[in-house]
Amino acid sequence: MSDTVSRLGQVLVVCAPSGTGKSTLISKLREEFPNFGFSVSYTTRAPRGDEQNGREYNFVSRETFVAMRSQGEFCEWAEVHGNLYGTATAPVNKMLDEGKDVLFDIDVQGAKQLKKTFYKGNFIFLLPPSREELTRRLVGRGTDSEESIAKRLANAQGEIAQADFFDYWIVNEDLEQAYQEFRAVFMAGALKPELRTDVEATILKEWED
Ligand code: ADP
Ligand code: 5GP
Repeated sequence: MSDTVSRLGQVLVVCAPSGTGKSTLISKLREEFPNFGFSVSYTTRAPRGDEQNGREYNFVSRETFVAMRSQGEFCEWAEVHGNLYGTATAPVNKMLDEGKDVLFDIDVQGAKQLKKTFYKGNFIFLLPPSREELTRRLVGRGTDSEESIAKRLANAQGEIAQADFFDYWIVNEDLEQAYQEFRAVFMAGALKPELRTDVEATILKEWED
């Protein structure tokens, strides 16, 4: 077994009004960095498109969700667009303990709750370039009903009003540019001293009195 010390995992939280391109950017990051730990949320909503249970979400009934919530299994949860969503604490802590970076795709209410537990995490807000373009993307995605799109657009207003909470703002106009910015935040986050157990165990050790 190798005795190499690795750095600690970072917490990367990404929020965006629905339709901005958050899933698209997260997929690109996970493709480039396959070792990323992804916090697979629990939700009471039905699977969309080719979503698979355990991959994009753990799809559960409202009864199961409520039971998990009352047993204190979630570090955050929220009702979004009429469905319940939550992050189970145990799998996240396991990934972080293993030194994996963990990515959270959650809504703004959830991010605010998560900040209490992971206050040193990097909290990123993605913005659509305009209201018109957000509408176009939601319609173009072809996965939501007219009613659901209207709900998502109404919600966007409230989310954008809370943009000040975040550490970074990335406008997803040109996908490649937005991806490079997203990647840069991740790369810089991994260099923070509090995560650098690798440097402490090697270089800093060599310089100890
Ligand atoms: P979210 O996860 O934020 O709800 P998606 O990743 O599903 O959003 O993206 C919504 C739609 O917008 C998808 O059809 C996606 O292909 C498209 N999209 C994402 N980023 C861009 C971009 N920079 N320019 C144009 N279309 C985009
Ligand atoms: P969608 O139904 O489009 O996949 O997600 C709707 C919203 O719920 C998105 O903003 C997404 O980030 C958010 N969401 C997904 N999982 C969680 C979660 O575990 N907790 C919270 N608070 N929001 C979540």
